[in-house]
Amino acid sequence: MMTSPRRRFLVQSSSLVLLLTAPMIARGATLLSIRVWPAPEYTRLTLESDGALSATHQILSDPPRLVVDLQGLQLDNALRDLAGRIKADDPFIKDVRVGQFKPDVVRLVIDLKQAVKPQVFSLLPVAAYQNRLVFDLYPAHSDRLMAFMQQQETLDRQLQLGGESTSPQTLAQARTRKDDTLGDWIRQHRSELDSQQAGQPRQFARADAPRAASADARADSSPAQRPDPVRRDRRNFRTVLLAIDPGHGGEDPGATGPSGVHEKDVVLLIARHLRDLAQNTPHMRVMMTRDRDYFVPLWTRVEKAQSANADLFTSIHADGWFTPEARGASVYCLSEGGASSVAARLIAQRENAADAIGGIDINSRSYQVAKVLLDMSTTAKINASLKMARPTLSKMGELVHLHSRQVQQAGFVVLKSPSIPSMLVETAFISNPEEEARLQTPAYRKQIARAIFEGIRAYLDTNPPLARRRILT
Ligand SMILES: [Zn+2]
Repeated sequence: MMTSPRRRFLVQSSSLVLLLTAPMIARGATLLSIRVWPAPEYTRLTLESDGALSATHQILSDPPRLVVDLQGLQLDNALRDLAGRIKADDPFIKDVRVGQFKPDVVRLVIDLKQAVKPQVFSLLPVAAYQNRLVFDLYPAHSDRLMAFMQQQETLDRQLQLGGESTSPQTLAQARTRKDDTLGDWIRQHRSELDSQQAGQPRQFARADAPRAASADARADSSPAQRPDPVRRDRRNFRTVLLAIDPGHGGEDPGATGPSGVHEKDVVLLIARHLRDLAQNTPHMRVMMTRDRDYFVPLWTRVEKAQSANADLFTSIHADGWFTPEARGASVYCLSEGGASSVAARLIAQRENAADAIGGIDINSRSYQVAKVLLDMSTTAKINASLKMARPTLSKMGELVHLHSRQVQQAGFVVLKSPSIPSMLVETAFISNPEEEARLQTPAYRKQIARAIFEGIRAYLDTNPPLARRRILT
């Protein structure tokens, strides 16, 4: 009765994907796969099983290590293999050891290169995945945002403790007060947070370093002063920081074409072409929300761009559709109310599902903070976004086939930056066999990147960056 079918696992990546060929049988759950996704910001360890896994964990120091006890498992060779497969360049994990700790408990000891603050959460089955137990290993650092979150957690606990002896009305007032405080705090500390986080290179996949001695040096008199986004040179230009957001990544493959090409892979390649074009342009710098194959939550993409003081935000996708005939590129902006079409609403729903598929801890304080942040979008910001999206769509129309001749609008979470003009480009339909094949050719990917780049440049010609500040602040 416990013989579980062998499982073909779909995610292809450069990261470790350990397929357990002889599934490990636990009481009530079978361990199917262990995946490790190393990334500059955090490393994710995912244990996938066909039922909820029973596990406990603890962090030990000297040397730092994470110890995970999996109940009801017997050790086998596949799990022993895990240790040998950790990449030497993983920023957080040095080694993984496994042992049969007790007759029915397998212990994983993850030796760490630095102290971490793990976020541990489980996910119910979604898309191609069954139950997942996720360990996100973040560097254990203390900053003001973290201190604030801890403060809020204390308040949460007080609210919970007071629940029995306090009237529901008083509790509701206290919660409202708490939410107000949270929003106020973010507003008051925005610039402080931005500068604090911008000073932590580990948080950003910044791509501007190689240009320090070339175009930027011409744009600004001193390279040390380059990060100041409002600095203008004698010709009244200032350097524009473009945030490029390759959709999906890691556990979230995005849409998959008929021959198995993943959206997350082709959009990363297009994004890199766009980055190269922008980096070779005077007065332009680039930050990427990811430049490897790992999952970045939607709000984190926004937060990264905000923290870096990006001027523009472009998310790059190649979605699938229900029928293989759909083809061509589209450009989307955020909508204030409903979506501009049923198709736009569906596309936004699919893109917004990225967090559920990639996996986020919705109970974490940082997610709660982000929700407040993402509700600050304004009409002015959306109008500025449309000004960028329209020339982009028109330039794309000159170089690639268009799906829609109008900029579409819908409730994309990734476009909810409170102050940065943002657009999402669906470069093609990966579900269309012809477009899937084209997306695999470097020439076509470069053509798409060129079209987006020309669109952004056309926008900047008529809307220099200072205009954004006048409109939005
Ligand atoms: Zn997508």
